[in-house]
Amino acid sequence: METREVVIIGAGPAGAVAAALLRRKGHDVLVLERQTFPRFSIGESLLAHCLEFVEEAGMMPAVRAAGFQTKNGAAFAWGDRYTDFDFREKFSPGPGTTFQVQRARFDQILADEAARQGVDVRFQQEVTGGEFTSQGALLQVRDLTSGESERIQARFVLDASGYGRVLARLLDLERPCDMPARKAVFTHVEDRITDDRFDREKILISVHPQHRGIWYWLIPFSNGRCSLGVVGDAALLDKTSDWTSPDDMLKQWVHAEPNLAKVLRDAVWDTPANALGGYSAAVKRLHGPSFALLGNAAEFLDPVFSSGVTIALKSSKLAADALHRQLRGEKIDWDVEFAQPLMVGVDTFRAYVQGWYEGVFQDVVFYEQAQPEIKRMISSILAGYAWDTDNPFVADPGRRLRMLAQICHTSAAIQ
Ligand code: FAD
Repeated sequence: METREVVIIGAGPAGAVAAALLRRKGHDVLVLERQTFPRFSIGESLLAHCLEFVEEAGMMPAVRAAGFQTKNGAAFAWGDRYTDFDFREKFSPGPGTTFQVQRARFDQILADEAARQGVDVRFQQEVTGGEFTSQGALLQVRDLTSGESERIQARFVLDASGYGRVLARLLDLERPCDMPARKAVFTHVEDRITDDRFDREKILISVHPQHRGIWYWLIPFSNGRCSLGVVGDAALLDKTSDWTSPDDMLKQWVHAEPNLAKVLRDAVWDTPANALGGYSAAVKRLHGPSFALLGNAAEFLDPVFSSGVTIALKSSKLAADALHRQLRGEKIDWDVEFAQPLMVGVDTFRAYVQGWYEGVFQDVVFYEQAQPEIKRMISSILAGYAWDTDNPFVADPGRRLRMLAQICHTSAAIQ
């Protein structure tokens, strides 16, 4: 039976970055990925903070060389209101720009970069079972090319299987999520946007004129194409339009937002739309004997602030640091070293996601007289620096947000 030091399930961003970080510290790492790359994935607008982990994993030169669209912020539109946040004008230290990426290519680059640094990355290998004790793990793996199964022993397993949620399912770790069932319908278009006021270096989040819980993303790429999606309460998205296919449904919802429809008036809709629902997920715990859960294999909140890849890479960094010390012989308290620090940022994003759908964070975003310092603090969070507890909007997100929304309401009422 094959025996490895660390086995990682999944070669998405969480798996590839964790693998490279551990390899760079001298560990033997095997990554098992059930698909072949390149493969499509949603999650194309990155935050600035996540590049710090890509850099530490030795992957930045390859990512920079790929020619992805640079991104320097996020723009929000609702009726005639428009506001934007520039990530370079932020409270926290760290990069102020990032990229909008076609994930098939981006994920392939990260996996290739992990392999280049000595990680053993194997495709079409599906993890189907596992047993875990404090001494190590025994995984059941099926080779999808031959159909044969084998067992692989590991001192530690990192589950980075994303929506596959391998260990959450196998070890009964799934927990109901406190986010309502929402749905996304999305596609790629050749955008043909000619309006020079349109800022290709920002994601555009547009809010539906009447239903504030329904919003759209427009993520420009560097090749004249955009990722386009609509998100909202699943029942409402399905019900209010007379649609016959996801393409039809998406077109109707885009048509219902006049500004977005105008921006995309010359777009060529050349790619079938996809729908994805029930993506929010949670687990009872993030680690156990000889395993830890990374990225979407653990928690996923909501796409609205493009936080998924950043949370995934933060989890990779925290887990790789803790695991390196454990493998060197130190006793590690995974709650203190991994779960608690990770949840600082996850809970910050959660507060803003909830505030977004309740409307309070939308009021803050669209408030025109925001003080520059407060705007810098919010910009920091939107740029992914949700773990910087020097930022008052991270340290106490729910209360600060409510206070700020109150100020916006009062001052709007006075004017
Ligand atoms: P993944 O990228 O999903 O990778 C997991 C890998 O594990 C896959 O390649 C899979 O094949 C493999 N795998 C699964 N099961 C097995 C198995 N049994 N054996 C072996 N391998 C297995 N995030 C952003 O940062 N920006 C965005 O703009 C954004 N937009 C989003 C829009 C929507 C509608 C949704 C739903 C999510 C969005 N996200 C976004 C979130 C983003 O998609 C994820 O957070 C991110 O892809 C997580 O990366 P990961 O490495 O954890 O998992």
